[in-house]
Amino acid sequence: MWRRLFASVPALRAPKAACRSFKSSSRSAEKDFTKDLEAQFRAFREKAAAAMPGSDWSPVELTPGLPPERADVVIIGGGVVGWSIAYWLKKKSARDSVRVLVVEKDPTYSQASTVLSCGGIRQQFSLKENIQLSMTSADFLKNINDHLWLANEDPVDLQFNHSGYLFLASEKSAHIMEENYRTQRDAGAKVALLSPSRLKERFPWINADGVALASLGLENEGWFDPWSLLNALRRKALSMGVYQCFGEVTGFRCSSNVADIADGDFVDVKRIKYVNVQMPNSLEYQPVESSVVVNAAGANSGKIAAMLGIGSGPTESISAVPFPVEPRKRFVYVVHCPDGPGLDTPFLIDYSGVYCRREGLGGNYITGMSPDETEEPDVSNLDVDHEFFQEKVWPHLANRIPAFERLKVSGAWAGFYDYNTFDQNGIVGLHPLVHNMYFATGFSGHGLQQSPAVGLAVAELILDGGFKTVNLSAFDPRRILLREPMLESNIV
Ligand SMILES: Cc1cc2nc3c(=O)[nH]c(=O)nc-3n(C[C@H](O)[C@H](O)[C@H](O)COP(=O)(O)OP(=O)(O)OC[C@H]3O[C@@H](n4cnc5c(N)ncnc54)[C@H](O)[C@@H]3O)c2cc1C
Repeated sequence: MWRRLFASVPALRAPKAACRSFKSSSRSAEKDFTKDLEAQFRAFREKAAAAMPGSDWSPVELTPGLPPERADVVIIGGGVVGWSIAYWLKKKSARDSVRVLVVEKDPTYSQASTVLSCGGIRQQFSLKENIQLSMTSADFLKNINDHLWLANEDPVDLQFNHSGYLFLASEKSAHIMEENYRTQRDAGAKVALLSPSRLKERFPWINADGVALASLGLENEGWFDPWSLLNALRRKALSMGVYQCFGEVTGFRCSSNVADIADGDFVDVKRIKYVNVQMPNSLEYQPVESSVVVNAAGANSGKIAAMLGIGSGPTESISAVPFPVEPRKRFVYVVHCPDGPGLDTPFLIDYSGVYCRREGLGGNYITGMSPDETEEPDVSNLDVDHEFFQEKVWPHLANRIPAFERLKVSGAWAGFYDYNTFDQNGIVGLHPLVHNMYFATGFSGHGLQQSPAVGLAVAELILDGGFKTVNLSAFDPRRILLREPMLESNIV
């Protein structure tokens, strides 16, 4: 056959001698070909054998870490609020009766508010709900190992500094401080009011000029390590059977009901059937069927609400009202000042808005302030504005603590508040336009300290149908649609 082929193609016709060598080389080519074929058969047989039951080989490429196809409760966001809810859901229910899944898009937590926060806890709020939330949480933190200890592991160490908060009021704001003090005492918080002279006696490093009144937390106030709390909640919840998945919630599949609300006004009320979880670095997504969904996505929770059409209904209808939580960037500066106030430094909140607290024991402090509403920084990144420290923070800081006239900025970071633009308070409960989505977000700078109690409150709402420990009906999402803000005067 080879000869016939060569003969028919003149260009390939070889001289006689060459033909002889061709004869022998064609024999070896045939041999090579069969050898090759045998090798291919061998490889195929091996692959087929590996595909038999009991082998690891699969003809389908699987994405590792896919979430389960079904869960009773899907929690969007694995920050401190999400994991606290997961922990309490398991704690309150019989071990395997509730299948809980936490979906977190960023396993490094590089932008999560929890790990970028200042770790403060205080009872000095103006609303009784906020005071109760922080008191319940303080109790949890003080007894953390009764809740979150894992057998055969070291006890959880939150590095809780019980140094108190010290609020300073000017002449203009002193009456509000007195009013808040009464509310705090009525709620059971231990707080003392100090006159300017008592303040100076107690903290001689303070310049009391302009201070009309001060209030100092005597118990349950200070700061702790946010990462330790997040990690302890997460590990405990996982040990109790909570599922976790690293992926991003990108959408929902819902059924919808058109409801007649009043005077011929109709609204589309949704029920989530599936939560779509997109896997990292992949186009693959997994729909997770779920009865209950919790929006604990922090600064991103407004975007999650928008995916459900909240805020995009016809003008003037209730579905046109957006969910009012968005990221707001806040800078934290680390300063080194060997002559600073030292060990006996509470978490100081000046009436200018500047705050400061000790950071460790080596003459370091952290400080910052919230910018004016009109000067909110760009939220497309987490870059730090160093001029903000020079122009806004430092003058107030050095005025209140003169030792800070000489300091060195040794570091800085920025994080996002889960900022509730409506009334700067937590939003906890079911949204009227989505039957089965609970919200736990919008804490605007005080969500870390409230997370243990908020987790319990949401678990009660889901499992018991109402609040039992702390009544958070005042924080229900309906207040947004009714335009009834719950204003907190002690926002930092
Ligand atoms: C600078 C700064 C200082 C603060 N100081 C204090 C303080 O002293 N005391 C205090 O109590 N609070 C403080 N806070 C506020 C506190 O950090 C937050 O209120 C709290 O951490 C909110 O917790 P969270 O779990 O709701 O949010 P986060 O920790 O942000 O967690 C939400 C998670 O959801 C994930 N997520 C978002 N979208 C999706 C999605 N589509 N799919 C899957 N996952 C998603 C995010 O990746 C994130 O990890 C501070 C905040 C900042 C920024």
